[in-house]
Amino acid sequence: MAPIPGSGLAKGLAVTLRTMTKKSVTAQYPDAQPDLPPRTRGVIGLFEENCTVCMLCARECPDWCIYIDSHKETVPAATPGGRERSRNVLDRFAIDFSLCMYCGICIEVCPFDALFWSPEFEYAETDIRELTHERDKLREWMWTVPAPPALDPGAEEPKELATARKTADKLAAQQAPPVTEPHADEQARAAEQPTRPQGDSKQQTDQPKPDEPKPDEPKPQPVEPRRDGPKPDESGPDQPRRGGSSPDEPRPDQPTPGQEGRE
Ligand code: SF4
Ligand code: SF4
Repeated sequence: MAPIPGSGLAKGLAVTLRTMTKKSVTAQYPDAQPDLPPRTRGVIGLFEENCTVCMLCARECPDWCIYIDSHKETVPAATPGGRERSRNVLDRFAIDFSLCMYCGICIEVCPFDALFWSPEFEYAETDIRELTHERDKLREWMWTVPAPPALDPGAEEPKELATARKTADKLAAQQAPPVTEPHADEQARAAEQPTRPQGDSKQQTDQPKPDEPKPDEPKPQPVEPRRDGPKPDESGPDQPRRGGSSPDEPRPDQPTPGQEGRE
């Protein structure tokens, strides 16, 4: 059956009309930067301080595109009489991104968290040799690595955090002053004593002060000063009175019991 003349034009116009009303999915790159997901595999960054030159990443890379050179260095003993140590010093770390297939195995196997994914992807070169990124360039990519996502609130506490918290608690317990527990006898005595409710002002007023006489003791009578006697400020109550102010003391002009008979 022969096609109806103009049917193709009608179909094309129908598609145009259908897509005209839909939102556009194209991005105006490079004028508009794409909004990439956080786990985008753009380029690999190297955190050099964490690398111990264990060579695991280079051995596991399926493309053999990681190049590592290193040498051994002797570290003198930290204490006198101690043993010297040797350590690996990194000389070269490079990744050839013209061979890399972005599988992420090197990042997964690194036991010291020295390799990270960065979402940066704008490193195209006209010379393929420029796609081998040396350690300085790999280190620069670290500035573009996004922060790790927050932990799930219900997740198990990381081992490192748990160990650090236990150590801090132990140190705090060692530095705290020792709490002296009262002896068992003292505790029993304290339990037997009647306790008053707190805030009872009577508790303070009922207790006799050390200077106050007890209720059953006779109160001292005030001594009236004699007219011919010394003034109260001249002698205290404990001092002997001049001039025989006490009724028991003989007056100067009165004869003493021993003198009476002689006269
Ligand atoms: S991502 Fe894969 S291919 Fe690329 S360097 Fe790492 S291990 Fe090798
Ligand atoms: S696996 Fe990690 S620590 Fe070992 S050499 Fe590679 S980057 Fe360095």
